[in-house]
Amino acid sequence: MSRVLVIGAGGVGSVAVHKMAMSPEVFSHITLASRTLAKCEAIAASVKQRTGVTIDVAALDADDVAATIALISAVKPQMVVNLALPYQDLAIMDACLAAGVNYLDTANYEPRDQAKFEYSWQWAYQARFKAAGLMALLGCGFDPGVTSVFTTYAAKHLLDRIDTLDILDCNGGDHGLPFATNFNPEINLREVTAPSRHWENGAWVEGPALAQKQLFDFDQVGPRNMYLMYHEELESLVKFHPDIQRIRFWMTFGDSYLKHLEVLTNIGMTRIDPVMFEGREIIPLQFLKALLPEPSSLGSVTRGKTNIGTIATGQKDGVQKTVYILNICDHEAAYAETGNQAVSYTTGVPAMIGAALMLSGQWKGQGVFNMEQLDPDPFMDMLNRHGLPWQVKDLPAPLAF
Ligand code: NDP
Repeated sequence: MSRVLVIGAGGVGSVAVHKMAMSPEVFSHITLASRTLAKCEAIAASVKQRTGVTIDVAALDADDVAATIALISAVKPQMVVNLALPYQDLAIMDACLAAGVNYLDTANYEPRDQAKFEYSWQWAYQARFKAAGLMALLGCGFDPGVTSVFTTYAAKHLLDRIDTLDILDCNGGDHGLPFATNFNPEINLREVTAPSRHWENGAWVEGPALAQKQLFDFDQVGPRNMYLMYHEELESLVKFHPDIQRIRFWMTFGDSYLKHLEVLTNIGMTRIDPVMFEGREIIPLQFLKALLPEPSSLGSVTRGKTNIGTIATGQKDGVQKTVYILNICDHEAAYAETGNQAVSYTTGVPAMIGAALMLSGQWKGQGVFNMEQLDPDPFMDMLNRHGLPWQVKDLPAPLAF
């Protein structure tokens, strides 16, 4: 019987608490806290209606470490699941250390004024979590998260050695709007406008944003253009799977999305540095976020599927082999179950699973951990049982590009 405090009442937080409420044998008491209490209350009402479970809610600004410590002391959870924004990661880790509870998140810390997508700040907490006898689990969403577990599973069960790895992220969903992002617009646009970077023969190879594309036929979605990008799990994959010679990340984007993005970037609307407007500083990207639809509002209008997986080529019993591990998730089914579209679903379910494994002691340790360091088997088993079933395909040949 375990108590959990979830911070962040967006789409991902909503999915995670719905799924936690569906496993009362693991999550006996759930508290959801966010800056806006009304969002927590709306999610709590949906959880009650869909599962019959009552969850507690609280207003919290998690940038305020003292306030988070006070809430942890009042709620007395075994762990905090951080599903707020990457800007809050360090403040919430500080609060967990002070209050003596374990920590989990789905995205690495980001300073507000620079798009970095790197683990350095959070890896620097290693000694402090170890000394406190606490565990912090980083990047427990889909990508990062499940994609790293797929890789570790391939290394453990399917291949003797992995030579090349490609992560393919396709959102084949259509919300009918000319331009919207399917998770937090500020984080999404920082990510896609950053230079591309992949790992090859012991070094990072950089290129301009969204300059390299490939057509790929995604199962149950169809042919889509996917673009080479940097994504944060590349850093932990390189660290914990040092033998892999080349690691790349690809994401699909539709032409309408790219057309809008190009114009917005050209006119400066995706800038994250402050500009003066009518006598005060504003950050253009934050202003743009205020104009765009809330990702959580897209659930009811999104049709289609996501298809995210990893393709690994390597050696098995002395013979070259290529395996493709993937999950396909239906937007409408995700919405029917939790009131959220598949991008929130594919992130919130792994966060719930990671929390369940930590609370049950199947995943345990002292210090700061990435997903690649933990046994993939219980996680892969729970993906199948909690709404994100996966499949393994043997491909006849490595990717031709
Ligand atoms: P949303 O923007 O929908 O929700 C974020 C929530 O965080 C909001 O409810 C917001 O609160 C809350 N929040 C923001 N600042 C604070 C603060 N200072 N204190 C307390 N709460 C705060 O984002 P998503 O749900 O789409 O994403 C959540 C996280 O998941 C992000 O970090 C995102 O990067 C990550 N993610 C990871 C993925 C993966 O595969 N690994 C994929 C998709 C997302 P309020 O509205 O109350 O102000």
